[in-house]
Amino acid sequence: MLTISLRVLGVCLWFASAVAAAVEDPAFKAGFAERDITPEIGMEAPGGYGKAYHRALHDPCKVRAAVFDDGQARAAVVGIDALFIRRPTVQAIRQEIQRQCGIAPEAVMIAASHSHAAGPMGFFLPGELDGASPLVKSLVYEKSVTANPEYLARVQREIVAAVVAADAGTRLGHTRTSSCRSTLFPCN
Ligand SMILES: [Zn+2]
Repeated sequence: MLTISLRVLGVCLWFASAVAAAVEDPAFKAGFAERDITPEIGMEAPGGYGKAYHRALHDPCKVRAAVFDDGQARAAVVGIDALFIRRPTVQAIRQEIQRQCGIAPEAVMIAASHSHAAGPMGFFLPGELDGASPLVKSLVYEKSVTANPEYLARVQREIVAAVVAADAGTRLGHTRTSSCRSTLFPCN
């Protein structure tokens, strides 16, 4: 009888510890994916004062996506090699990500690395300021960087594809959080 009681007690203790572990360390999944968005030779290079064009490529431009899932919600964090990304582009990407894999638009963050060696995603689209004065049109179309619509569409597709692939490949993982205080360096 004593043996049976000890076994029952053991099972209860194991169950209690398993439940406690599950509460303390909830299931956490993460997935990662990347895609290539290297511009083509001859495309505009953004970020200078005036027109500049890619004459050589040093290394690839990438989309890198991470999707995190704590069992309650999913969030996507995306880094892109680009000078910037326009809000309408982000909004269109968020909608498409939601349509393809269900991640909420407000849970998708897209950050550009501020690369001057990336592709032409703005500042303006061809034809966007056709109604402006001749001076403004000249400044925008002839003196500034103008987006390449095909390249912009490709970047949109590849960001969506990277997030969908990262979401499909999520695996169980563990998290560790930390904090620090410094008056010298920014921390998060
Ligand atoms: Zn800059």
